[in-house]
Amino acid sequence: MAPIDLPELQRLDAVHHLHPFNDNAALAKRGTRVLVRGEGCYVWDAEGNKLLDAFAGLWCVNIGYGRKELGQAAARQMEQLAYYNSFFQCTTEPTIRLAAELAGLAPGDLNHAFFVNSGSEANDTILRLVRHFWAVQDKPRKNIFIGRHNGYHGTTVAGASLGGMKGMHEQGGLPIPDIHHIDPPFWFADGGDLSEEEYGLVAARRLEQKILELGPDRVAAFIGEPVMGAIGVYIPPMSYWKEIERICRQYDVLLVADEVICGFGRTGQWFGSQHFGIQPDVMTIAKGITSGYIPLGAALFNDRVAGVLKDVGGELAHGATYSGHPVCAAVALENLRIMREERIVDTAREEVAPYLAQRWAELGEHRLVGQARIVGMMGALELVPDKGRREFFPERGKVGGLCRDTALRHGLILRATYDSMLLSPPLVLTREQVDELFEKAWKALGETAEAIGR
Ligand code: PMP
Repeated sequence: MAPIDLPELQRLDAVHHLHPFNDNAALAKRGTRVLVRGEGCYVWDAEGNKLLDAFAGLWCVNIGYGRKELGQAAARQMEQLAYYNSFFQCTTEPTIRLAAELAGLAPGDLNHAFFVNSGSEANDTILRLVRHFWAVQDKPRKNIFIGRHNGYHGTTVAGASLGGMKGMHEQGGLPIPDIHHIDPPFWFADGGDLSEEEYGLVAARRLEQKILELGPDRVAAFIGEPVMGAIGVYIPPMSYWKEIERICRQYDVLLVADEVICGFGRTGQWFGSQHFGIQPDVMTIAKGITSGYIPLGAALFNDRVAGVLKDVGGELAHGATYSGHPVCAAVALENLRIMREERIVDTAREEVAPYLAQRWAELGEHRLVGQARIVGMMGALELVPDKGRREFFPERGKVGGLCRDTALRHGLILRATYDSMLLSPPLVLTREQVDELFEKAWKALGETAEAIGR
């Protein structure tokens, strides 16, 4: 491989490449980091730094980097049949096999897959198809989706509208009509004197209030991430989702679980819904389905919804060139085979997650940390000005950003949302790597505390 001319790459990047979710002017001055290689839980940048990736890329590299079988599966499929569509009374073998495989993996009767390329498109898909589901049953007014403030469902027009990120709504005139939001379950900031379980019920009943306010005949579906990821790994109390499920059933509102992050082992179960013991009617998935090796997303529908779509839905006026792309499906099948045969989810849940939780709790003892939350293989450290109080820094995000940059200098990739340090490592993290993570994070916390005079 020719040596990399990093300054030249950074120059070209600054001139020609607009980065997502970045202040591009500031980034151009700073210079981007160029990643060149990955193996297991580590990545290397162009300066030769070896980094423990405790964020699995972007919550997605569940089986770790460098698994040659996935590249081989892609190459085999490309050589045999690089592409065909699923439009004209056609499809391909890997596409069919993946749909069947997902039906077996997903809980309950989520037996029907619609393929797209990303989590955002999966959420666009469910917005349209769920509204269609009600419309063809003579309920065209039952079209409102309820999501949550600060929820994240992607970046497309429907995805960003379903999500509740204010900064995203402000760019491009969102949300689109007939989407409403309720407050998210975040006991740390919002729970007051309630126990977490009591608070879970209070937070869930905001959905009931909203449904009654809008009218049950107007509400098509509720959408939520089992664990809210991007906003800062908000892990709801166990009481929350059960109550949400009860409310959805009572008012005949479809329950949509956005499992784009939680799916494929992140919470220690195959799906986050299983961790919380609920049965969604519709599920959106992406990321871990291919461990990030190739883009793929899907919407899964239960028998009831798919039955209506098939029997009375007529022609579905929805789909993408790459819906069910055979190469992406072949890679997903290989990824899922590896996850199953190597018992990656079970091993993470039974052997690694308990130890990770123990060491994460130790990080929680640091003077800068107000709460250490974790479920399975995802967690957050909430950095606070006063350990004894559940309050944020006045200027949110500065300390988190400092801590993230400090961790990086110690060879550890964590993400910061405001002052929450987010954790989402590959599921194949070993106990030794948990120790390495702990040591690097502890150093980063200490240096951050010193830098801000604490
Ligand atoms: N839903 C959730 C819960 C997500 O976290 C994300 C991405 N982080 C998305 C949807 C959007 O997925 P994508 O970026 O693949 O479009």
